[in-house]
Amino acid sequence: MGHICNGTRLYQDALNHIYKTDVVVIDFQEYNSDEATMISVVYALLNAMSDVLGIDINDISGCLKGVYNQQKAAVDYAIVLFDTVAGGAGHVRRLLNETVLKNVIAAACDRMKGCSCDTSCYNCLRSYYNQHWHEQLDRHKAYKFLTEYIGEISKVGLTNVERTHKIRLLNDGLPTKTKD
Ligand SMILES: [Zn+2]
Repeated sequence: MGHICNGTRLYQDALNHIYKTDVVVIDFQEYNSDEATMISVVYALLNAMSDVLGIDINDISGCLKGVYNQQKAAVDYAIVLFDTVAGGAGHVRRLLNETVLKNVIAAACDRMKGCSCDTSCYNCLRSYYNQHWHEQLDRHKAYKFLTEYIGEISKVGLTNVERTHKIRLLNDGLPTKTKD
């Protein structure tokens, strides 16, 4: 019934759709770090949010937003966390409360410090959904980075950050998120 395909060129493509949801961008500003550290921080925060706020881990997700910094000749990463539910469920929005954010960061540090694996495992950072990053995930890097922010968090809204070690937390109306 079939026939021989005469196609000679293969194209790599991606399917996606656009939906509106709640998005929070956490910009660590001057204290940025490398990709492996920052993606480890993303998953440390997501797991901690799930624990602290009682959110199903599948209802939230995150990624990095990289912007090339010409002065530093390096990429600056901001952390983007979003609700996976179309329309937003208000989960990531709760991070705009300073106390909630502090508790989430503290819980993330506890979890990173408390594990006994070498770099990452299914108890601390890994999941089925982040397999792509498994080799890079490192609880020690996430812990080292996040401990810098314990007790130093200050929500500064949309204004400029005056000190290092401050987090710029934006609920900056990224209206849509493209999902793979
Ligand atoms: Zn582990």
